[in-house]
Amino acid sequence: MKLPIYLDHNATTPCDPRVMEVMLPYFTEQFGNAASRSHSFGWQAEEAVDYAREQVARLIGAEPKEIIFTSGATEGDNLALKGVFEMYAGKGNHIITCVTEHKAVLDTCKHLEKLGGEVTYLPVNKEGLIDLQQLEAAITPRTILIAIMYANNETGTIQPVAEIGALAKKHNVLFFTDATQAVGKIPVDVIRDNIDLLTCSAHKMYGPKGVGAVYVRRKNPRVRLTAQMDGGGHEKGMRSGTLNVPGIAGFGKAADICRQQLEADGQRMSNLRNRLENALLQLDATYVNGSRISRLPHVANISFNFVNGDGLMMGLNKEVALSSGAACTSASMEPSYVLKALGVEDSLAHSSLRFSIGRYTTEEQIDFVIAKVISVVEELRAMKPIS
Ligand SMILES: *Cc1c(COP(=O)(O)O)cnc(C)c1O
Repeated sequence: MKLPIYLDHNATTPCDPRVMEVMLPYFTEQFGNAASRSHSFGWQAEEAVDYAREQVARLIGAEPKEIIFTSGATEGDNLALKGVFEMYAGKGNHIITCVTEHKAVLDTCKHLEKLGGEVTYLPVNKEGLIDLQQLEAAITPRTILIAIMYANNETGTIQPVAEIGALAKKHNVLFFTDATQAVGKIPVDVIRDNIDLLTCSAHKMYGPKGVGAVYVRRKNPRVRLTAQMDGGGHEKGMRSGTLNVPGIAGFGKAADICRQQLEADGQRMSNLRNRLENALLQLDATYVNGSRISRLPHVANISFNFVNGDGLMMGLNKEVALSSGAACTSASMEPSYVLKALGVEDSLAHSSLRFSIGRYTTEEQIDFVIAKVISVVEELRAMKPIS
């Protein structure tokens, strides 16, 4: 077996070879600028982008015109939040979000607070879910946006998105969801869920890095955004800049493959995830973080009490690539703010692991990981009975 085994698909996924194949011609023979209107190079590029727009739209139940291509979900989150904040300044300045959002949302909200925005950060329960009554109670006449992620990147917990959408609609407030971890993994439907704005990213769904999209609803209501990037007026003026044609073509193909394989992939991955989780839970003092019911099919976040977090990572990382419950974004060893928000103690957060399974993960790999994790945990516990 080739080592290390990659179980960090929530950080990024490999490009599907079928996606790569679709991208390649747009680097060489078909290198045109999609904004060139006067020759076939431009027309071909534009055709590729239009096709990809249809493919991405179809995956989430949107219209092609409602898809704005970006450089990824970080840019999309910035565009959705800042774009609404500026455009709807006449209506209000209040945004409701939640403490377990991705930093691309939280840090953007912090930025808006400096510009006079008021932000409510809803807490979550120990399953990682927001409380709908608390959400409704937080809405004021000045509320312009509810920003709640679809599924959490650390725990896989899926928020009650349809109920949030219904509440937002009832109170005439826009609903934005960062669906980067959900799109391509579980059925997402912007109509069913009353979603007004949504972000996603190609590299989390077997497409290339550096491409993403924002869904911007065009009717009931027609959502408007203030552009954050001014220039040539690309993407209906909402995001200027020459389009990444190969990346977008690949994103489209990735979306198409996800749509076709969604059910089968989800079933296969949840079987592998359950096999892994059930085996690891045989260890004493081992706990699953986040909801086990409302959860992405391929994610398991597990804490192993009485082991040292660094020791755990060092014991595993030559053979298994995964993320720990200590801050993955920086060199500091702060426990994860997401796990903290769920009420997980610091020491347990430090000794937690996020397993995220992918399209190419095999049963053989999972069995290897099970044996390895059990042996490392048992070894650490034997060395140091209490930490
Ligand atoms: C990965 C991720 C992002 C950032 O996406 P990029 O395309 O890498 O900028 C944002 N939100 C969530 C929930 C993510 O998992």
